[in-house]
Amino acid sequence: MNLLERELNYPLGDALPAPGETLEVAPGIRWIRMALPFALDHINLWLLRDRIDGQDGWTVVDCCIAHDASRAQWEQIFETQLQGLPVLRVIVTHMHPDHIGLADWLCRRWNAPLWISSTDYHVARVLSAAGDMLAGGDLAADFFGAHGLTAPDAIAKIRGRTNYYANMVPSVPDRFVRMMDGDTVTIGGHAWRCISGYGHAPEHIALYCKSLNVLLGGDMMLPRISTNVSVHAGEPEANSLRLFLDSIDKFKALPADALGLPAHGKPFTGIHTRVRQLQDHHRDRLAELLEACSARPHTAAEALPILFKRPLDLHQTTFAMGESIAHLHFLWFAGQLQRRRGDDGMWRFGP
Ligand SMILES: [Zn+2]
Repeated sequence: MNLLERELNYPLGDALPAPGETLEVAPGIRWIRMALPFALDHINLWLLRDRIDGQDGWTVVDCCIAHDASRAQWEQIFETQLQGLPVLRVIVTHMHPDHIGLADWLCRRWNAPLWISSTDYHVARVLSAAGDMLAGGDLAADFFGAHGLTAPDAIAKIRGRTNYYANMVPSVPDRFVRMMDGDTVTIGGHAWRCISGYGHAPEHIALYCKSLNVLLGGDMMLPRISTNVSVHAGEPEANSLRLFLDSIDKFKALPADALGLPAHGKPFTGIHTRVRQLQDHHRDRLAELLEACSARPHTAAEALPILFKRPLDLHQTTFAMGESIAHLHFLWFAGQLQRRRGDDGMWRFGP
């Protein structure tokens, strides 16, 4: 447990649901934890006891990637954890592969509707069908190149990585039910309020239930790691970090003792503390970046060692580049840095 985590509370201690099993974390809410084949090695999914149109069953929140191992884990859950009841609805917090990957499979298997924000639904459909232009392909390679990533092997790998998204999200349901900020979703007789979040995904939806005092935070309220906040090739002028910081500010309106159910890590309380930690974290990194760039203009690639003190592999480098650009853009939009494009075609951020 790191120092910041000590300021949070983990009411379940070190308890984790075993693979293929679930753990009740609040009345009618069961925790599923599935393995992921990345550095981020797991995702939390949730089963909520529900009743829709007189039919008893379950609402699933988030799905895992479309790999055989995750399907097998779901099959085990279906057999042993659903108390003989069907899945009635699939809620997806946002379009990232670990959240939406198996949504189409789950929806087809149970004849259940997908609930998601309209923005994330449509972005997922485009990326799944047309190939990835965010994490790989020419657009991404040129974008990272213009931000100072020069290593030819890294650029070649990014240029060739065009099926990254579709590999994990081979299909998306052909229709959806829209969730919007402020909407109320009734699940098992409880009212859950949709809270939109920006800067991590196009339109992430977290859900808060007042009667249970529980927040399904998705990737917008993580206890241990800080949410990835990136600028990507598809929206190269974005101010993602500004959007993210404004979004998490909304969680301060929730009760201080609300139980946070995050997509990664363990159920926790201390949401207000966590918002402050994340704001401090980004403020410190922005200050370091501003200092370095005020002394000498930096590209986003040159700024990587300022933001990340550890060596990065290619997968981490693409995430880190997006984060670096997001921080530089924050300072640029705030008028604290200017950007200039050099004769070499690269953007540099300086005084
Ligand atoms: Zn995500």
